[in-house]
Amino acid sequence: MELVAAIRAHIEYQRRLGVSGYPIAARAKPAAPAAPAASRPARPVAAEPAHTASLFTEPGVARARSLDDLRAAIGDCQRCKLAPHRTNLVFGVGNPRARLVFVGEGPGADEDAQGEPFVGRAGQLLTEIITKGMRLRREDVYIANVIKCRPPGNRNPEPDEVAACEPFLLRQLDLIGPEVVVALGKFAAQTLLRTKTPITQMRGRWFDFRGIRLMPTFHPAYLLRNPADKRLVWQDIQQVMQLLGLPGAGA
Ligand code: URA
Repeated sequence: MELVAAIRAHIEYQRRLGVSGYPIAARAKPAAPAAPAASRPARPVAAEPAHTASLFTEPGVARARSLDDLRAAIGDCQRCKLAPHRTNLVFGVGNPRARLVFVGEGPGADEDAQGEPFVGRAGQLLTEIITKGMRLRREDVYIANVIKCRPPGNRNPEPDEVAACEPFLLRQLDLIGPEVVVALGKFAAQTLLRTKTPITQMRGRWFDFRGIRLMPTFHPAYLLRNPADKRLVWQDIQQVMQLLGLPGAGA
């Protein structure tokens, strides 16, 4: 009975988010054979980790054993109403074993055109934070968004779009297994942490996100409009560098 109540509550929650139906799941297939050891050893990737695979996660997504598998499972996605508007689905880019993942909101026009996150003006600023500030390369970290297709006219993503797309980000994070996630801006931080707390109150503080340390900070697009707040982002990034033991923290 508890299970039935939990399913009812989940469906009601999704309904309130605007989800009106679920993709029909294919019959469960036996788990794929174990993937060969990746470059960062001793962290076996769970076939269907309890914390990301809910009853409603598609089997292909839940069972993906690598980012390439996951990308293949997403396919030519038509799961939400953003699909007809996109040029490219922007999956994510970077080191599949990164210790640090940046999560933004969703692709803008440049990202939609190029199929890569954070390549426009805000992306150039993020790249500077990574390369000049942290002295890392873009390829050392992983960069993704909460939603993978550009909302028309850069409007905010809607709840049903987030509900359809979020399982992909959760599985990405599972497969990468980072030590730290930096949530870029209000939308990413509030969505991941399931809160309405303003970003001004969250930035600079550590949160737990499914066992991963999460640092909210301002979005680079906000910094383009409010350059004086770059120093606050630098403080947040220094905390991240310190936690990861990167040289230059506290400089
Ligand atoms: N803003 C985001 O949140 N993500 C991108 O990929 C680009 C701009």
